[in-house]
Amino acid sequence: MSGGPPGRAFAAVAVPIPARRVFTYEVPGALLRSVLVGSRVLVPFQTRRIVGTVVESPAPPPDPSIEVRPIEKVLDGIPTVPESVLSLTRFVSDYYLCSWGEAIEAALPAAPRTPLPPRFVRRTGAGGEEALPPQARARRRALEALPADGSPVPLAGLPPARRNALRELVRAGLAAWVEREEDGPRRRGVAGPPPLAPTPAQAAALDRLLPAASRREYAPFLLFGATGSGKTEVYLRTAEGVLASGRGVLYLVPEIGLTPLLLARISRRFEGDLAVLHSGLSAGERYRAWERIRGGGARFVLGARSAVFAPLPDPGLIVVDEEQDGSYKQEEAPRYHARDLAVVRAREEGALLLLGSATPSLESFRNARAGRYEILRLGERVESRPLAAVRIVDMRREFLETRASRPLSRDLVAELGACLARGEQALVLRNRRGWAPALHCPTCGERVSCSRCSLSLTWHRSEARLRCHYCALERPLPPCCPSCGAEGLNLLGEGTERIEEEIRSALPGARIERMDRDTVRRRGAHEAILSRFDRHEIDVLVGTQMIAKGHDFPRVTLVGVVSADQTLGLPDFRAAERTFQLLTQVAGRAGRGSAPGTVVVQAFDPAHPVLAAAAAQDYEAFYRREAEYRRALRYPPFSALVEIVVEDADPGRAAARAEILAEAVRREGEGRILVSGPGPAPIERLKSRWRRQILVRSSGRRRLVAAVDRALASVEREVPRKAILVDVDPVSLL
Ligand code: ADP
Ligand code: ZN
Repeated sequence: MSGGPPGRAFAAVAVPIPARRVFTYEVPGALLRSVLVGSRVLVPFQTRRIVGTVVESPAPPPDPSIEVRPIEKVLDGIPTVPESVLSLTRFVSDYYLCSWGEAIEAALPAAPRTPLPPRFVRRTGAGGEEALPPQARARRRALEALPADGSPVPLAGLPPARRNALRELVRAGLAAWVEREEDGPRRRGVAGPPPLAPTPAQAAALDRLLPAASRREYAPFLLFGATGSGKTEVYLRTAEGVLASGRGVLYLVPEIGLTPLLLARISRRFEGDLAVLHSGLSAGERYRAWERIRGGGARFVLGARSAVFAPLPDPGLIVVDEEQDGSYKQEEAPRYHARDLAVVRAREEGALLLLGSATPSLESFRNARAGRYEILRLGERVESRPLAAVRIVDMRREFLETRASRPLSRDLVAELGACLARGEQALVLRNRRGWAPALHCPTCGERVSCSRCSLSLTWHRSEARLRCHYCALERPLPPCCPSCGAEGLNLLGEGTERIEEEIRSALPGARIERMDRDTVRRRGAHEAILSRFDRHEIDVLVGTQMIAKGHDFPRVTLVGVVSADQTLGLPDFRAAERTFQLLTQVAGRAGRGSAPGTVVVQAFDPAHPVLAAAAAQDYEAFYRREAEYRRALRYPPFSALVEIVVEDADPGRAAARAEILAEAVRREGEGRILVSGPGPAPIERLKSRWRRQILVRSSGRRRLVAAVDRALASVEREVPRKAILVDVDPVSLL
């Protein structure tokens, strides 16, 4: 096949370093049969040895002048990468402008550093001896030794030749490693309650979905329905149909959406087929789950962002629940978006794509309107439970009338009292943690800020510490202003800690708890608070956006929102969208049981159209207005956007490099892309590094990404890659 020197074979290996290229290695004779595309291999690299992934084998021989070193070893105790996943990581590297090796690392997040040998092997049922070439005698014998019913056989004590043959069978999909004896195929027991009869709206959606599921071709849908309208039920029913047809299901949820409640609901129905990928897994557990999925032992994969790379052999359905959620975007390299990768993967695999949301992202809704996704509306809530009544309280008027600057309005306090008197529960959202978000000097007007970041420090009273929420800096309260030395610093604004305290004093005797990053730091604390709330051991739960998502608490009849409009002022084109989503989501938490709900939204600018649309739970009104603004300013989804940030400890060097890079992008864009900046990034200094931001926009996404890629390569000498942060389709510009 290859025209290289006879007897020498080569393979291309992707390694996890930032360079956007792969490296050629020689394949020693002894490894000829085990070096396959997707194999994980140990290779010498500069002065070290690293684990890379074979992406091409055989590869063309390299230039004879280049010294080629050999692959040292094939690692089989860690996952090999199936071709469908490999091609997805290739897409990630080309589209998000990272190296292929880095993309593979992201797909195998917690690959154990020390190889973990598999313990059992079994047939997959994918084919029999007839699938093997006649001369493959060792493989044939190895396959024949495996029970036809798929029960696992221990590997302990098998000779190396037999293990090699088995490895090739696994590679070919005819056998699978299994970690536990029970992981073989199981008759699926009927468990759980009888399924709910679908509502008319659910039935109409299923009438579109189930026939599409049986066609084995890419079919994208946007399931649009209020919280509680029965979307999850539609996902699960579609999943049943897909599993019955013999294909797998990939079910993605936002990071925080993987609640015990959802897990219980899914495992009741898909027990034996279910594998859950979550951040709490140890490297070994993740590896076991990975191999179980890969070998066909788990056909229903549930997980957050990185589960989009799960090695599920033949996904027939990919669900992305709460598709608008920001946690689908990885905020470190590779900066991929799992929802967008779900679209790519569904297209590649000929699968049904089901994006669901009560407040779709502008991107997805626009795609649906343009006919790229079929839109399925669920509309109302199940059993026509009414949506909560939303009231906006004008906090400026509140201040004028009470002459006191209290963070809680009289209206909200009265509603809280009444709610608890009825024996019901309440949620209070304040999307800032700590006691006070700023410490302000009335004499010089300065705020006390982090010495490493251009940001105010937050006062955390329970720890008696000022803290920076972006770096680890913390310090005690200064006795006087660090800028001018005057005394009498004021705490400005209020965070969740202060709100909790205010509610405590307004409602003596009530059981109040707080849920934010500070109180859930301990592992399991998040679930513990939610289950205490679920058991009604807590009356009022105060918290950040964490409380807004994914829970179904029938006794909650009141939701309060403090400073609802504050996030509207952030210097990010998605500020309005995020505020709308958060408000709609949290409002949807009120009145999920039979009692109707009330939502009290406190704001300083109560007439703001985003608040009005959220209060009316009118997504389309919000969309129309927001789309107009985005179109006018050429922001996504009406333009493709890449954010580039150049960072340096020295502000002058950051600025000079940013100029060079911006110039290169302008040149490569050939007048067809719009380059804004460089200017100071919204967070101008972060962890002692100065940051200059360049925003690059174009109507053509491919063209834009390609121009940025060329620009980065052309300035490689003057601007080292590690000083640059490139974010394609950024979700947050802060
Ligand atoms: P969503 O995912 O849109 O928030 P869910 O699927 O969780 O909605 O449904 C909301 C509530 O309604 C859940 O308690 C669920 O058990 C119930 N539900 C869903 N579908 C039906 C149905 N067809 N009949 C009765 N109750 C249903
Ligand atoms: Zn800081």
